[in-house]
Amino acid sequence: MRLDAPVDSCAHPLDQSFDRPLDRLLDRAVDRRTIIHACTALAATAAVSAFGGPATGAAPRLPGDPFTLGVASGDPRPYSVVLWTRLAPEPLAADGGMPHRTVNVDWQVATDPRMREVVRRGTVRAVPRLAHAVHAEVDGLAPGRRYYYRFRAGGEVSPIGRTRTAPDPRTTCPSLAFAFASCQKVTATGRYAAYDALAGEDGLDLLIHLGDYIYDEPDTGGLADYRRLYATTKRSPDLRAAHAALPFVTTFDDHEVRDNYAGDHARERADRPGFARRRAAAYRAYYEHQPVRVSALPRGPRIRMHRRLTYADLVTFHVLDTRQYRTFPPYDERAGGPFVPAADAVDEPHRSMLGRDQTRWLQAGLNSSRSRWNVLAQQAMMARYDYGDDDTALHNLDGWDGCPAARRRLLAFLHERRVDNPVVISGDMHANFVADLTASGRASGEPVAPELVGTSISSPPRFQEIIGRARDRNPHVRHHNGVRRGYVRCDVTAERWLVRLREVRDPAARSRRVRTQAIFTIEDGAHAAERLA
Ligand code: FE
Ligand code: CA
Repeated sequence: MRLDAPVDSCAHPLDQSFDRPLDRLLDRAVDRRTIIHACTALAATAAVSAFGGPATGAAPRLPGDPFTLGVASGDPRPYSVVLWTRLAPEPLAADGGMPHRTVNVDWQVATDPRMREVVRRGTVRAVPRLAHAVHAEVDGLAPGRRYYYRFRAGGEVSPIGRTRTAPDPRTTCPSLAFAFASCQKVTATGRYAAYDALAGEDGLDLLIHLGDYIYDEPDTGGLADYRRLYATTKRSPDLRAAHAALPFVTTFDDHEVRDNYAGDHARERADRPGFARRRAAAYRAYYEHQPVRVSALPRGPRIRMHRRLTYADLVTFHVLDTRQYRTFPPYDERAGGPFVPAADAVDEPHRSMLGRDQTRWLQAGLNSSRSRWNVLAQQAMMARYDYGDDDTALHNLDGWDGCPAARRRLLAFLHERRVDNPVVISGDMHANFVADLTASGRASGEPVAPELVGTSISSPPRFQEIIGRARDRNPHVRHHNGVRRGYVRCDVTAERWLVRLREVRDPAARSRRVRTQAIFTIEDGAHAAERLA
């Protein structure tokens, strides 16, 4: 099979089902994967050299360079990784500047940065219905190794991306280096100093993105609006460089849909019917722009984001979705927002952050995990925080303080089942926190797990003063600093987990200059983070 020949023998179910509702396509996701793999196997045997040769007449020219949004990889497994791109010669146009037809996209994976040793190749189809987004699930790769990849469409070749598979599950994984980040409001310059610094970090295996990848605007509502927000965000060369440098594992928070939404409610309770449509548009645009697996293709207003990634015997990431299944918190957005004195209603046992099914899935995964470290990668701060300044406790009900009973149950589960080294990583706060989580969920008591909250990539600080004033009321918070933007680097071995809180001076500058705000260490079995420097 010639690389540049039309791939009729590997017809893509999405094309054949072009007029069917998107919902029904998910049922065929497994077929589709099988077909992509069959294509991969066929193509890999073809003795074709690099993309060097001219595209054939089967690859009609596009109106311009289709790779303006960059390339990305994600959700690494031992033998497999997802490669992503979206064809958009005019990224801010509603149709991305693409003709309304299906386009073949070739991809290649090599072991060297010059793409000379190509080990896998294949072709997938980019369809207008999914904004010409491409999710190629490549497998047959070797575990624990670095790869390089690129795409070709319409005679144009993409930039080269770099990725890394997870280690062989039957081996001992000596170390893992990863970073986590969140909250990247587009800056005035379009630059992200934190991503520039991240792309320059040595030896990172992956990045976990904890949400607020885009920020909804007051008039955001339809699919075209959400697509434009992703295109605007991805115009940053620093974000594209970070995606090209390492695989991302992403989950969303509220702003990918609507500020402070919960479950099927917008912040204004009355907006419920319209909100399902908005959530469907938002989740679909999310899928279209992230390197997630085909199993994340949304069904209307539902998407499956919670999943597990395992790095051999060292780390299991339990990636959570605390927005889609959340119980709406008992506060009125128009009457002062989510900061309210804790009333009895908040502590009702039925209130949930994860919903029943995800909670069971998480418990089963924690019970069966054989990893030294168990990371709960999620969005809103889990530690209790009392923002009050007199006799009345004040809590932010948009976080886990809005579901204290669910938090008590989760932390008691971690404690009673003796889950190995649980560590909670969070975003949302636009500030660094290091806190102790206790079995009771209260501020005092034996720590069950440390929580690391990472500051924002670029989004401005929130509630700095009120948090600072209330520090004495929150002795379980070991560190708080919201002055600077940045990300968190974690270097993990079986014996200890090193945390470096990285900060940049000017989040919108073009500068790789990064400094370390503080270093913490979590020793195996300690269940709390200690400050090193
Ligand atoms: Fe944010
Ligand atoms: Ca948020």
